[in-house]
Amino acid sequence: MAVAGPGDCADLGALREHIGDCQRCALAATRTRLVFGVGDPHARLMFIGEAPGKNEDLTGEPFVGAAGRLLDELLASIGLVRSEVFIANMVKCRPPGNRDPEPLEIETCSPFLARQIELVDPVVVATLGRFAAHYMLNTTTSITALRGKLYRVGGRRVVPVFHPAAALYDGSKRSVLEDDFRRLRAVLDRVERGEDAGPGPAPGSADGSVS
Ligand code: URA
Repeated sequence: MAVAGPGDCADLGALREHIGDCQRCALAATRTRLVFGVGDPHARLMFIGEAPGKNEDLTGEPFVGAAGRLLDELLASIGLVRSEVFIANMVKCRPPGNRDPEPLEIETCSPFLARQIELVDPVVVATLGRFAAHYMLNTTTSITALRGKLYRVGGRRVVPVFHPAAALYDGSKRSVLEDDFRRLRAVLDRVERGEDAGPGPAPGSADGSVS
C-alpha cells in the first residue's frame, strides 16, 4: 500500500524515505543536501533549530558550523553529547544566502518535523531561536519574552532558548544561553526524578494546560 503522508511513516527511516528527493518547495532548487536531522531516535530531549546553513547544506547534518560547535559546547556544559539528543530544523533545506525561511516553506516542511517529534517522542523540546519557538508555542511573541520560561504542549515540556548563532553575533547572549541550558538540565532532571512541578501553558496553544 502506498504511504499517504508523513503520519503513515512508522519510523524515522520510513519518514526519510517518504520525504525522498523533496521538490515540494522552492528551496529544492538551491539546496545541495537535504538535512533530515540526527541523533538518538528515542531521545528524551529534542532540539529544533531554524534551517540548515552552508556547512549543513554541504554535509547533510544539522548544526555542524560555528553555531553547531557552540551547541556542542552548551550540551557538554550540561553533561550531554549530541548522540544522546535528537536535532532537527524547522526547514530541511538551506534558504539561499541563509535568509529566513518563508512562511510557505515552513508550512510545507513542518508536517515532516511534526512527525519527527511524534516518532522521537521526546519529553522535552528545546527550541533554538524564534522560528522553532513560534512553531511549538503557536505564538508570535518575541523570543526574548519567551525564553527563561517553561511551557507544556501536549504533554511535552518546551524550553525556548536563543539560537546559538545569536550568541556568535552578540557575545552578551552567551551567558543567557548558558543559563538557559542550566535550566534545561534542571527540567530534564526533574522530569527524570518524576518531580515535574508542571510548567505554565503555551501562549496561544489550545493544548497549553497547566498540570
Ligand atoms: N542553524 C540552524 O538553525 N540549523 C542548523 O542546522 C545550522 C544552523
